[in-house]
Amino acid sequence: MTKSKSPSSAVESAIEIENAATARFECVFPKCGGVCCQNGRPPVEPGEAQRIERNLKKFLPHLRPTARKVVEERGFLTKRTKGGLPMLAVDASWCVFFNEGCVLHKVGAAEGSTFKYKPWVCAVFPLDQVRPGKWYVRQWKLRGEAWDLFCLNPKESPKKAVESSAAEIALVERLEAGKEDWRDGK
Ligand code: SF4
Repeated sequence: MTKSKSPSSAVESAIEIENAATARFECVFPKCGGVCCQNGRPPVEPGEAQRIERNLKKFLPHLRPTARKVVEERGFLTKRTKGGLPMLAVDASWCVFFNEGCVLHKVGAAEGSTFKYKPWVCAVFPLDQVRPGKWYVRQWKLRGEAWDLFCLNPKESPKKAVESSAAEIALVERLEAGKEDWRDGK
């Protein structure tokens, strides 16, 4: 079994990343304009939705005016579902929480954690789960990847995804271990 190694320590990761040896990835935001939030429509877990709802007043002033209107009038979740979970709403084809970057990310960062408020699907990008304990880095055409997003092209950057996405891998380990209470500041 191939396991990833944390670049900051020589300790083996608790999760398996099946393409750890070959995957390449580099986030170049803001140069890319944050296109991964365009029509992304991530599914949101019940606990994540409650966390966003509880803190909504913090996010509203930072939203695009038209996106704020959508959230205030119809809510941030839609009736569309993925894997049985409601998906975030979009406005003008962008996630309602996008405004020159993710507002959930920015507000969380100001409070000391970029991952605190984001749906885990967004927070762990470009990682995705195969099954509990087993993950992979999304790459063009791998496992039926249909998204032609430039940064999922392994030829786009020579950077090893397990190094450039070390924080995301650490988050996956916490999620897999059921350690989510930190997101509520406990
Ligand atoms: S919640 Fe944030 S990271 Fe996720 S799609 Fe919306 S703007 Fe992007």
